[in-house]
Order: sequence, then structure tokens, then C-alpha cells
Amino acid sequence: MPVTVLFAARPDRWAHYEAPLRSALDATGLDYDLRTEAAPETVDYIVYAPNSAVRDFTPYTRLKAVLNLWAGVEGVVGNDTLTVPLTRMVDDEGLGQGMVEYVTGHVLRHHLGMDAHIVNPENRWDASPPPLSRDRPVAILGFGALGQACARQLVSLGFPVRSWSRSGHEQDGVESFSGADGIDAALSGAQIVVLLLPDTPATRGVLNARTLALTARGAAIVNPGRGPLIDDAALIAALDSGQIGHATLDVFRTEPLPQDDPYWTHPKVTVTPHIASETRPDSASRVIAENVRRGEAGEPLLHLVDRGAGY
Ligand code: NDP
Repeated sequence: MPVTVLFAARPDRWAHYEAPLRSALDATGLDYDLRTEAAPETVDYIVYAPNSAVRDFTPYTRLKAVLNLWAGVEGVVGNDTLTVPLTRMVDDEGLGQGMVEYVTGHVLRHHLGMDAHIVNPENRWDASPPPLSRDRPVAILGFGALGQACARQLVSLGFPVRSWSRSGHEQDGVESFSGADGIDAALSGAQIVVLLLPDTPATRGVLNARTLALTARGAAIVNPGRGPLIDDAALIAALDSGQIGHATLDVFRTEPLPQDDPYWTHPKVTVTPHIASETRPDSASRVIAENVRRGEAGEPLLHLVDRGAGY
């Protein structure tokens, strides 16, 4: 009997994923049946995205695993009807590289003060140079697959990088912190803060009035993590007071960001529309197919989600 793989993401994604998924599944040598609709009791694996129509997994009685197409799993991790393993997307080739480019670009923009030259309506000749990267401390909150990849790039450019994670994961050239005190140490005096935490009950509102006050005055915030990591009212107050100099925000509590949201018009906020890093069909399909292969071979799945921790 073929292995039935249900692609349960937004229908417009199918056009992008069908060929790469077939090609990656072909390469496993498995006898498989890839479809966008199937009787639930026939499905072995679900390729899932949070905006999928599948909300109740109970009828999927033969299901072996749900393979999330995205890195963030906040849309499915708390689903009580899901009783099989859940994996998430870790894809250094596509997702990872995209995030490194986004974070490095925005960190350099703030570091070099590019806005002052790009938007200079009075033609001011202000010849004050920025400091060198070695004098610009960067804090990365969330030091997993993406935080580590971004840190490698920023360290190679000379920035002093501090990280904060649950485990205090260490990496060459990075000062690592963990725990409740660790966030204070990581943020203290930071001039640029990058958020790459998942959205879990423990991380919501992690950037708030208290923690924003720990950064250097005029620090920049870059958030490609998730919207709920930030207390929005506290950030706007910190921008207005000058404690925070600029916020580049890619993710929001409500997406698309509503037209009347103050972030759109705030002069110290850059809104990007959740484009920091997109799952790339070719490389992501290889990750999905490898997990189907592993599942069928009885091998441990890659990138399993710890449902207790929520990521
Ligand atoms: P990982 O799971 O690999 O890393 C998450 C990091 O957060 C880990 O270092 C983890 O600690 C840390 N963490 C989790 N909970 C806490 C906590 N309570 N206190 C301190 N640290 C904590 O995820 P990725 O790096 O792959 O992705 C990070 C996030 O980036 C995703 O969850 C998603 O929200 C976002 N993302 C956004 C995209 C975009 O386009 N805007 C694209 C892709 C991802 P530990 O190392 O100890 O486990």
C-alpha cells in the first residue's frame, strides 16, 4: 500500500510545492500517494501550514506524523486533537539563509545609520561616521537554528554578540546567557536587539517596558521572530521617549497588519510584511521527504517539536 501524504496548506501553495515535493519523495524510493484531499483514515503524513483547513486531527486514525511547513508552530502546537509527533521546518539552505540576509541587512542599516543619508530632505552634510562594528553590541534573543546562523554572520562582521536562550547554548565568539537574569545581562547596553524567539506562553511580552529600558539609549529593535514577543504599547512609548531609536518589525499580533495600526505611520518604525524568511519549496520539500523516509524506516524524525515547551 502506498504511503499517503496529504498536503494540507493554503491551496495557492500547492502550485509551488507539488513538483518539488514529488521530486523529493521520488528520491526516497518510497511508493507514495501525494494529494491535497484524502479520506482522513487513509492518511499517513500531513504536510501542514497553520492556515490549513485541517483543525481536527481525530479522524486521521492512521496518521504517523504532522510535518509543519514553517519554522513557527504556534498555530498547531496547542491542538489537543493532535496525538502524533509534530515536526517543524529547519532548513538552513532556504529559511536559514533568508533570515541571515534579512537580519544582517537590517542590522547593518541601523549600524551604519543609512536612513540619515537615504532620507535627507534638507541635504545636510553630516560627516559623522558610525562606530566600527566592534563597538556596536548586538543582543540576539532566541538562539536556535536561526539565531545561531545570524550570529555567525554578525560575529564574522565584527559585532560583539550576546545571546539568550533557555539552555544557554554556546557558540564561538558569542557571549551566551539563559534564565530570567540572563535576559537582563544580554540586553544590558545592547545597541541592536534581534528577536528570534518562538511564540510560546513563556516568551510573550518578553520585550516590555522593563526590558526595553535595559538597552542602550536609542537602540534599534529588529523583530523577525513573532509579534506577541513585544508589548506593543511599551515599544511605542519607548520609541516616543527616545529610549528606542528605531524598530524594524516583520511580524505582528494581527497579520496582515491592520491599516489603522499605529506602527504603519510611526516615523521610527519600519514595517516589513512577514517576509524576513520564506520557506523555499525545493529545500523544504527535501526536509519533508526525509522525514517521511525516516518515519517509514522507523528512524527518529528530524526537528521534532517539544509540545510541552511549545516549540
Ligand atoms: P528554534 O526552536 O531553533 O530556536 C528557538 C530559540 O528560542 C532557542 O534558542 C530556544 O532556547 C529559545 N527559547 C525558546 N523559549 C525560550 C524561553 N522561554 N526563554 C529563553 N529562550 C527561549 O527556532 P528557529 O531558530 O528555527 O526559529 C525561531 C523563530 O523565528 C520561529 O519560532 C519563528 O517564530 C520565527 N521565524 C520567522 C520567520 C519570518 O519570516 N519572520 C521565518 C522563520 C522563523 P533553546 O536553544 O534552549 O531551546
